[in-house]
Amino acid sequence: MSLDETVDQSGPDAEENQTMLRQRTIRKPVHAIGIGVHSGKKVRMTMRPAGENTGITFVRTDIQGHPSVPAVAQLVSDTTLSTSIATGGVQVATVEHLMSALWGLGIDNLIVELSSEEVPIMDGSAGPFVDLIKTVGIVTQNAPKAFIRITREIEVTQGDARAVLRPFTGFKASYTFVADHEVYNRYPKRATLNFSNVSYCDEVSRARSFGLLKELPQAQAINRCLGSSLQNAVGIDDEAVINEGGLRYHDEFVKHKLLDAIGDLYLLGRPVLGEFVGHMSGHALNNKLARALLRCEDAWEVATFEDARRLRGREPIVQPEALAF
Ligand SMILES: [Zn+2]
Repeated sequence: MSLDETVDQSGPDAEENQTMLRQRTIRKPVHAIGIGVHSGKKVRMTMRPAGENTGITFVRTDIQGHPSVPAVAQLVSDTTLSTSIATGGVQVATVEHLMSALWGLGIDNLIVELSSEEVPIMDGSAGPFVDLIKTVGIVTQNAPKAFIRITREIEVTQGDARAVLRPFTGFKASYTFVADHEVYNRYPKRATLNFSNVSYCDEVSRARSFGLLKELPQAQAINRCLGSSLQNAVGIDDEAVINEGGLRYHDEFVKHKLLDAIGDLYLLGRPVLGEFVGHMSGHALNNKLARALLRCEDAWEVATFEDARRLRGREPIVQPEALAF
């Protein structure tokens, strides 16, 4: 089933849909069961369609009153090995891979119910979330889709790490990681993807989390990675990737870092029209960048696809999946 077949173009505005990019949600609820990679706890997740201009909202169904936590950068509460959001003492952990998949599919509005504190890790990538959503289909809504168009460069740093957003027509992302390890040295540490001609679903969504086996005890000592296994991460010993079947992409490591950054940036609440450059940036710096951008109101503006086209005189193509109708 292709996205083209699942998108509803019926109704009086069908003709206008050809030229105006509109908001999207899923066609009907879809469930998944998995474990939290950090908590190790079993979790049931239900994604439900949501109304226009409501954004992505997480709901904790295991807590009385089913409190919700909106997926916004200002609510990021913890960035130790993953990105957590919290409000009113209610936390939702490890949101970045799901947020990345939602960006990749151009989903603007969604309710995500969880029966525990953490989004299921699935296979450690965003691929299973993409597949789940494609199974139920995507529908266009009436409201125009809005972007955050970067108008001035913003840079944040933390030691040697750096993260930048700058003006660009469309969305482009590059990442460099620095790690002097025999296994990492065998694979690309830098990638640049221009999503005008790269498919997120094909080229990025299946990149898994990864880590050195010898660092696992340190993470588990602080109650992280309690659910980690070779079913949800790429494990690396002193000499090689130990997963049966090896890597999914030759540059899977750096692509996963891009997948993470895309998910962290989607907590801005709208997709970015601009260029992201990350140098060793992780969840903390990605969130620092998002917060810095939101504070600098002269560095961005909310723009519809139509606005961006008028300003630039050509199509601000974001990524093929979002335009597959
Ligand atoms: Zn990740």
